[in-house]
Amino acid sequence: MTKQKQINIFEQKAVVGPLAWQITTLDEDDMPTHYGQCYAPLTAKIKLNPENTGMRALDTLLHEVVHAMDMMALTKLKEDQVERLGYMLAMFFRDNEWIHDYAKQKIKEEYIRKK
Ligand SMILES: [Zn+2]
Repeated sequence: MTKQKQINIFEQKAVVGPLAWQITTLDEDDMPTHYGQCYAPLTAKIKLNPENTGMRALDTLLHEVVHAMDMMALTKLKEDQVERLGYMLAMFFRDNEWIHDYAKQKIKEEYIRKK
């Protein structure tokens, strides 16, 4: 496997609907008990435990993104539904590596400006 550039998640924003959700470190008091937290649209923050690694880090990010989508779409999912969808999304990305490049390709195809 070729070495890929590490992405610092804490320098990213997750755009969900009209909001760019700031990704920050979880408050120290919450670190022993939480992998992440998502705050209501007015603050638009996703807080992640910096000790999350590997699939736990991806699973937690996607879990919080599903919460953000739920807030934006007003679907009122229950915590266990968010839990299952976040987990299934993480497994989908793990088990279908082709989707990473396919998504980039199709997004580029859709939004590239014709000269
Ligand atoms: Zn949750």
